[in-house]
Amino acid sequence: MHDPIPTVTLPSGLTVPALGQGTWNMGEKAARTKEEIASLRAGLDLGMTLIDTAEMYGEGGAEEIVGQAIQGRRDEVFVVSKVYPHNASSKGTIQACERSLKRMKIDRIDLYLLHWHGEHPLAETVAAFEALKAAGKIGAWGVSNFDVDDMEELLAVPDGANVATNQVLYNLGRRGIEYDLLPWCQERNIPIMAYSPIEQGRLAHHPELIHIAKTYQATPAQVALAFLLERDGVIAIPKTSNVQRVAENRDSVSLDITDEDWATLDAAFPPPSRKKSLEML
Ligand code: NDP
Repeated sequence: MHDPIPTVTLPSGLTVPALGQGTWNMGEKAARTKEEIASLRAGLDLGMTLIDTAEMYGEGGAEEIVGQAIQGRRDEVFVVSKVYPHNASSKGTIQACERSLKRMKIDRIDLYLLHWHGEHPLAETVAAFEALKAAGKIGAWGVSNFDVDDMEELLAVPDGANVATNQVLYNLGRRGIEYDLLPWCQERNIPIMAYSPIEQGRLAHHPELIHIAKTYQATPAQVALAFLLERDGVIAIPKTSNVQRVAENRDSVSLDITDEDWATLDAAFPPPSRKKSLEML
């Protein structure tokens, strides 16, 4: 028996698992297709039913993998995808969404994000998102890589307050958002989706994490994920194409780290003491 995955409530009232699955680097090599699909399916079996992708990943290749992985089980899955900023004009957003739907062979994306703030006015992108929502092609929309100033700009445009998430770089080694963006979003009930939660695998080799993990018979990646699961309104989306690692990441929800060990981790990965611009990968 697995411990249940904690959930995060979206502004719509819908709940999603606080531990999902990423897909960056999937769909790039045909030889890896089978293991990528198998790992996403294994994650679904274990309740990691939120899958994050983007038209950018593998230039559509990752969305195709997602489409194959969720075939026959669409209703179990909460699909998140993203529009490239250069496509995020009024018409371009709609067309990009249609292409993503086709690649994934689905008729609705549950949460559709602007990948980062680009050259098109936010008002245009938001209006297109709202039109897609009204047409039932997306369930909700959000943004990614938005710092506090971007979020303030967003909330000032018509319907901008309908934003359902902000997906940003957040992990033990990248705690800058704790200074301002994280509390700002928490106060407004806007969930944060933490990308690169294991710092693209690098945190798995961090000596302090290895040390703490050992005392729990856990792995460093599990401790890195437990750090995010501990926070309100945060959804972590680790990526792995390895079925064993899917199970390992899933089991991070069972880690119960003591206050003393959190303090040790705070000393090794200090929280911010001043504003730092949002980092991106
Ligand atoms: P992650 O922090 O999720 O790390 C992924 C890497 O770590 C892969 O190389 C994976 O290798 C490895 N890994 C996974 N689990 C473990 C484990 N238990 N132990 C050791 N290594 C492990 O990085 P990502 O950058 O992929 O971020 C996650 C997701 O966030 C992306 O896939 C994407 O969906 C999203 N993202 C969004 C961005 C944005 O701008 N909005 C930017 C970056 C990411 P392997 O597959 O071989 O297991």
